[in-house]
Amino acid sequence: MSLKDGNAYRESLRILKLNVYAYGQKIDNVVDNPLFIPHINAAALTYDLANDPMTEDLVTAISHLTGKKISRFTHIHQSTEDLVKKVKMLRMIANRTGSCFQRCVGFDALNATYTVTYEMDQELGTIYHQRLRQFLESVQNNDLMVCGAMTDPKGDRGLRPSQQKDPDMYVRIIEKNDQGIIIRGAKAHMTGIVNSHEMLIMPTTAMAEDDKAYAVSCAIPTDAPGVLHIFGRQSNDERRLEGEIDQGNFNYGIVGGEALTILNDVFVPWERVFMCEEYQFAGLLVERFASYHRQNYGGCKGGVSDVIIGATVAMAEYSGVGKASHVRDKICEMVHLTETLYSGSIACSAEGKPTPSGAYFVDPMLANAVKLNVTRFIYEICRLSHDIAGGLIATLPSEKDLRHPEIGKYVEKYFKGVDSFPTEDRIRMARLIENMTGGTALVESMHGAGSPQAQRVMILRQANLQRKKVLAQKLAGIKTDKG
Ligand code: SF4
Ligand code: FE
Repeated sequence: MSLKDGNAYRESLRILKLNVYAYGQKIDNVVDNPLFIPHINAAALTYDLANDPMTEDLVTAISHLTGKKISRFTHIHQSTEDLVKKVKMLRMIANRTGSCFQRCVGFDALNATYTVTYEMDQELGTIYHQRLRQFLESVQNNDLMVCGAMTDPKGDRGLRPSQQKDPDMYVRIIEKNDQGIIIRGAKAHMTGIVNSHEMLIMPTTAMAEDDKAYAVSCAIPTDAPGVLHIFGRQSNDERRLEGEIDQGNFNYGIVGGEALTILNDVFVPWERVFMCEEYQFAGLLVERFASYHRQNYGGCKGGVSDVIIGATVAMAEYSGVGKASHVRDKICEMVHLTETLYSGSIACSAEGKPTPSGAYFVDPMLANAVKLNVTRFIYEICRLSHDIAGGLIATLPSEKDLRHPEIGKYVEKYFKGVDSFPTEDRIRMARLIENMTGGTALVESMHGAGSPQAQRVMILRQANLQRKKVLAQKLAGIKTDKG
């Protein structure tokens, strides 16, 4: 059985012996802990939707390795249609979760590693691609959730990995032996890692020969000996320990649930090693992964924005301003920005090309443009939502006050908007907007899939400014640089 449903996924997490800390405490069971339940629900939905006849066309695919029906999240893109379906799937799922469902990072890591190991083997005579295919087959057959583990802590950003005062600022190989390698370091901001089965380690930056100990890619179970996860905080996360309303999106939470993952001398057998000191290919792997992941953002953030727009329309109605022309203009602006993001993701997918491995890769220029737009447009979409929703999203009393036997009536009375809508609906919608447009969600749009500067570097590198200059010189009647 290669397709799990959401409950089978939850049960599969119970078997893991994860070493997780949150709030300074060791967590023995993430599956039933309210801090983790929303993230697990979001990931579980990716499993349920693969089994739903209404959505299975987007959420499943046929494995090119086995011919079996598998989750699209474990699929290697075989066409531009696959790339486009990925974006449509992400928007569809984000419409249902209103938050990150985490599974795309491993999806992108598998595709990036698949394409680069093939090219490495062609050039260097290594055998990484065959190993990766074997790992991939087991991921597909067991419908595993893989966390893509790229970002290192990075220490002094002005220094390369081998120049750091503390050599552990980037994950590195500290030993090679007959059985495999031993690695040390940490990966930061690991989306969904505490509810993943496997992590796929990749280097985080291009490397020089001095850095070759840091050029490492491998797969590690999330509960392997020596692995420790320290779960990150999010805006208002303690509300998960209270009632429902104050959480806003109580089913699916805010963004993905990230952790700092420490690798304390973790042993990795050779069959799970996909790069070992081939520093020349580190930069290519980073670029492939980054472009695949940036492709996503007009899909998932487009889908999240659909929900923010809907919540904002509802708030305007509850407050009696739904028909005001300035509100309609602002809603139109939000829709325009959302569809612009989505168009970019569709475009970079439709313009995808096959790599030497046969797997399809997105147009990297367009994918980077999408993600750079996300770092701006989501802020603008959220700003417009705040503008229309009103100050109560920042000042509302708690659910406990609303339910209080003595003072609840005042909350009920003075937060009433249009008479035909219950006060509680207005409060619920305000909390949803607070949750979806607040600090953690915004920062994720800025830095998820890499900071804006990383996109600028890749955009400029591909921009061919010389060609553009010659185009202008020709039209202006100037002797061109090319003669
Ligand atoms: Fe997927 Fe979006 Fe979450 Fe990234 S932020 S893992 S693309 S849902
Ligand atoms: Fe992300």
